[in-house]
Amino acid sequence: MSNASVPLRLLVIGAHPDDAEYRAGGLAALYRKHGHAVKFVSVTNGEAGHHQTTGPTLVARRRAESRAATEPLGIEVEVWDNPDGRLVVDLDRREEMIRAIRNYKPDLVLTHRPNDYHPDHRAVSMIVQDSAYLLTVPAVCPDVPFLRRDPVIAYLSDDFQKPYPLDPTVLVDISSVWDAKISLLDAHASQFYEWLPANMDRFSEVPETRGGRRQWLDHKMQDSSRRLANRFRSRLFEMYGDSWGGGIELVEAFEGCEYGARLDPANIARLFPFLPG
Ligand SMILES: [Zn+2]
Repeated sequence: MSNASVPLRLLVIGAHPDDAEYRAGGLAALYRKHGHAVKFVSVTNGEAGHHQTTGPTLVARRRAESRAATEPLGIEVEVWDNPDGRLVVDLDRREEMIRAIRNYKPDLVLTHRPNDYHPDHRAVSMIVQDSAYLLTVPAVCPDVPFLRRDPVIAYLSDDFQKPYPLDPTVLVDISSVWDAKISLLDAHASQFYEWLPANMDRFSEVPETRGGRRQWLDHKMQDSSRRLANRFRSRLFEMYGDSWGGGIELVEAFEGCEYGARLDPANIARLFPFLPG
């Protein structure tokens, strides 16, 4: 458990039921390990994320996967009813977001960056950014108490280069919770063992046994994490020193957003208390 007297509150807002796990599952597991609170929100219902099943059957399956993923770690989860693949930025979605963030009272909000291949990811990013300032404005959504102070808002990592590549403010060594992250992803079988490999024409690579496919996923995730660590190795040296920073391979990266409270050195120390001081 953490030494902090008041537990921190982390809210990860993704477009789809597996996005939070994929980009922030390690940080979420670290938060829980240190006694802090975590909630995952999927803004869409995930009904488009399969090549064989769609609609209510898939929504029910993905909600069950989200619960199975998060329950062992004590992470709260919500999968909203907005249609997958058809999310648009509008006033109703903005007010839904303002109410949700106010009700949870997070210290740290994580979401997608605004430029991304998936229109739902872009929409969620815009909806969160559009909500940021209004969280503190009493006249907006007066049915839910406004926040006195904005939470820190930061972006999840991606590989997109335009208009500018990811510029991480914080890199988190997640090696101590790696198995927990893989368990979070392993629970989303419809995605990591079915839809995503099928969509990438790599379905034949997926092993048939439960243990085999988890190991296959683990290796793939280690490869992509190593690429992320090596891409930002100089930043890892800055943050962790030469010895620790040189050896980190399992990592997640987060970039401070200009809206909301800033991810400045004081907030980094407060929100990431497991980083070297
Ligand atoms: Zn997604």
